[in-house]
Amino acid sequence: MTDAAKLSKVEHIKIESRQLRGSLGSEIMSDVDHFCSDSEQLLKPHGMYQQDDRDERKAKNADGTAKGKQYMMMVRTRIPGGRASAAQFLAHLDLCEQYGNDTLRITTRQGFQLHGVIKDNLKAAVQGINRTLLTTKGACGDNNRNVMCCPAPIKNNTVFDEMQVAADQLAEHFTAKSTAYHEIFLTDESGTTQNAAEWQPVEEPIYGKTYLPRKFKMGICLPEDNCIDIYTQDLGFLAVVENNQIVGYNVLVGGGMGVTPSAAKTFPAVAKKLAYIQPDQVVGVAEAIVKVQRDFGNREDRKRARMKYLIHDWGIEAFKAKVEEYYGQSLPAPHAADVTGVDDHIGWHEQGDGKLFLGINIETGRIKDEGELRIKTGLRTLLKKYGMPTRLTALQSVILCDIDPKDKADINQLLAEHGIKQDHELTLVRRYSIACPAFPTCGLSITESERALPGVIDQLEVELSKLGLLAEKIAVHMTGCPNGCARPYTPDIGFVGKTLGKYTIFLGGNAEGTRLGFIYQDLVPQEELVKTLSPVLLQYKAERKPGESFGDFCARLGKEALKAE
Ligand code: SF4
Repeated sequence: MTDAAKLSKVEHIKIESRQLRGSLGSEIMSDVDHFCSDSEQLLKPHGMYQQDDRDERKAKNADGTAKGKQYMMMVRTRIPGGRASAAQFLAHLDLCEQYGNDTLRITTRQGFQLHGVIKDNLKAAVQGINRTLLTTKGACGDNNRNVMCCPAPIKNNTVFDEMQVAADQLAEHFTAKSTAYHEIFLTDESGTTQNAAEWQPVEEPIYGKTYLPRKFKMGICLPEDNCIDIYTQDLGFLAVVENNQIVGYNVLVGGGMGVTPSAAKTFPAVAKKLAYIQPDQVVGVAEAIVKVQRDFGNREDRKRARMKYLIHDWGIEAFKAKVEEYYGQSLPAPHAADVTGVDDHIGWHEQGDGKLFLGINIETGRIKDEGELRIKTGLRTLLKKYGMPTRLTALQSVILCDIDPKDKADINQLLAEHGIKQDHELTLVRRYSIACPAFPTCGLSITESERALPGVIDQLEVELSKLGLLAEKIAVHMTGCPNGCARPYTPDIGFVGKTLGKYTIFLGGNAEGTRLGFIYQDLVPQEELVKTLSPVLLQYKAERKPGESFGDFCARLGKEALKAE
């Protein structure tokens, strides 16, 4: 437990916020174009970040004076397992045009993001999302965020349904009880109930007064398909299946990507196996784990507030003992089951009930029309015509579900008309690449990410083609800073923005996301990323063992051996 006098500033803001209200209610009604810095923190648990257009920071008025920051909001929709109806998807496409920057982003956690929403439009945008029966509540901030789940829409197979049910239960169970979100964002435009006198506290049985010390991430998947990167989650449930039934879950704890390079006390971590539990124990065990983090996580130093540090400092056995104490019974040792594979779900597939599903790759998750590639119009056309349900994937792409086989030819035609490429037209390295947004919206970005990665993949494709390696599944994740929102420390290749225009290259992870990579080279200019990797790819081509992946090869040789050649 933390000494109250030493609590971080954000902890004080939360304590004094009257269950996440602060002055948001009055500020949102004011004409000022931005929120104050305390309110910036309180926007997050409601699913929003205040940002400014970083491309415009140096912009000048006609008279030569500085324009100042052009404030705008990012609004994130929380969608457990990425399951969205056609109507919900279409509504988000409309909202990005009405209130955002004309583009919709699929996040690396199976959610949607609107970017470029000015403060005056914030309430209308949030209300538009809620009208679709989705919410932004809890999508950011110091609470449980979107619960990820394998999105494969397999029917007549209880395994996939049960995983999604568990994801929905976890999402519901860990939603804050505070009514602040409703009062601030969902009341009519004439005003809110925000003055302190009218404020009525509600019990927060899990989060208490100060919510969690830091963000908290959960995910559920199968051993053969770690498409949600379970080892990077604070809490993961790996389904153990026998005779087509989930017989239990391996519980993984303490994954987390963010680091501060200047602070040696911080590090990325893959989750550790904690226990094996029965399916009906999922919510109870999750609650015990979250409460241990709530009560013992670091609230003095936000750089060390994620649960991975608590587990590191205590050791997994002591952490488990405390979880068992909170849960009220001991937990069996983990099952032998572990991650063995990964699938991006792109392309046409049978879904088990006579219908088909189609995974469509959305490069870097950005749904927009640009040149000949008109993804936004193409998806809108398909969703309006067929009304099929969708799933968002953790690789920032979309699955269209419940397709009648007789419609396949027409859908293929529509995709081609809109310049949307299918699985066989895309390389694996592009399909397994993801990027965080970084510039121009993220206030923490140091380098480009979303805007840079497609060009880097273009170069990588040329290199791989020369070496005859295009058929290899090589996962590439890029982020604009070490915070690691696109999980850059576990794929085959990670590019992490380090300083202006320069990246740290990580190698030795894998597409299955089961281990951390190592720093291969630091401070590599963007235009030299692929050039720097060329000798390693050449070496891989010449020396790999049969069937060995690029990441496995790099991990086997290690940095020194790779550098030596
Ligand atoms: Fe921003 Fe860094 Fe996250 Fe990218 S990784 S979105 S730059 S905080």
